[in-house]
Amino acid sequence: MSSSVNKILIIGGGFSGMAAAIQFRRQGVAVDIVEKNPNWRAYGAGISIGGATLRALQTLGLLEQFRQHGYVGDGLEIYDEHGNFLARLTTPPPAGADVPASGAIMRPVLSDIMAEACTAAGCHVRVGTTCTDIQLHADRVAVAFSDQTSDSYDLVIGADGLMSQTREQLFPGAPRPQFSGQGVWRAVFERPDHIRSTVLWHSEEKQMKIGVNPVSPTHMYLFLNDTRATNEFIPPEQQPELLREMMRRFDAPGVQALADQIGPDSQVLYRPLEGLLMPLPWHRGRVVLIGDAVHATTPHLAMGAGIGIEDAIVLAEEVAAHSDLEEALVAFEQRRWERCRLVVENSRRLGEIEMAGGDQREHARLMQESMIAIAAPI
Ligand SMILES: Cc1cc2nc3c(=O)[nH]c(=O)nc-3n(C[C@H](O)[C@H](O)[C@H](O)COP(=O)(O)OP(=O)(O)OC[C@H]3O[C@@H](n4cnc5c(N)ncnc54)[C@H](O)[C@@H]3O)c2cc1C
Repeated sequence: MSSSVNKILIIGGGFSGMAAAIQFRRQGVAVDIVEKNPNWRAYGAGISIGGATLRALQTLGLLEQFRQHGYVGDGLEIYDEHGNFLARLTTPPPAGADVPASGAIMRPVLSDIMAEACTAAGCHVRVGTTCTDIQLHADRVAVAFSDQTSDSYDLVIGADGLMSQTREQLFPGAPRPQFSGQGVWRAVFERPDHIRSTVLWHSEEKQMKIGVNPVSPTHMYLFLNDTRATNEFIPPEQQPELLREMMRRFDAPGVQALADQIGPDSQVLYRPLEGLLMPLPWHRGRVVLIGDAVHATTPHLAMGAGIGIEDAIVLAEEVAAHSDLEEALVAFEQRRWERCRLVVENSRRLGEIEMAGGDQREHARLMQESMIAIAAPI
């Protein structure tokens, strides 16, 4: 299979798809994106962005914009539910790049930065559009779209997230996302001056973790992980009161001060956490899956978006490096498997320790080991 890849389609304009679009455009490849959301914008609160993801954003040429609109910091402070200091973990700087060790940003802000970069790079984006048919041929992929058009591509990248239809269509036996047993609550607050990096409060007994992370010079986001029997729907109007009630169970003064600020009109987001690790191969013929479509992680290591963006960078490198597309896609998978497996499986284990009220020292050790592994070159 020749790798003369001149024209690609990316299905899904999330972080992984946008990163692929930016990198392939830099290599002179014509890029079409179809994004089914007519508004093409990520919703939600803050997103934690570790040093490895900052390194990936630097590769995309977006680090300065991140610094301008987000927040960069270093390290992680851990307290118990009463506010007693437990540990300070360093966040190792990523290898091979001069970037901060950690950071965070509002999710829609990062999404807008990347979307503008895609448009500026000359990607052809169609929103409110999806694929209705994908036919594999030896020398091309023929695709029909929901806007009644059709086209042919040298390579199709399925970056359509956890519930990927591309995965469903091309890998009918692939594993389904699994509910992890935890849900995460998020809300945004004004940032007091003393919160300058991630702060976590743990309760082994209550099987809960609360954290805050600065997302801009003025604001921070809060996340609370709790243990749930099912991934039930929680009506949005009930969420502020439920979050406040859970925060009240921690008597740490820092948590209480934030609980006081939550009222019935506060914007609170609840989401059950699901995971997925699809075994290799991640490609079939000239269609390859990246990001959450093949490795959706719970956010315990804050690397879900990061490994999706890295996938895009490595895929573009391997396609450029091989004259045979099949070899390029196998090389991409070989470079990505172990790192993505580590993030998904260690995140799941961290969640299990939290749900079992397990050993905090094991939790801290696994966090630190994972952070060191994540800092390694890709
Ligand atoms: C509660 C929570 C907190 C998280 N916190 C963090 C964090 O702090 N740090 C971090 O790095 N990661 C975090 N993650 C993980 C991160 O959000 C994901 O890993 C990341 O968004 C995956 O990006 P993606 O582009 O692969 O998929 P997605 O973000 O799901 O994007 C997929 C895109 O494809 C589009 N799409 C879907 N189906 C189709 C279709 N059929 N046709 C066309 N378009 C389609 C969707 O509209 C979407 O725009 C968190 C996840 C959750 C659930």
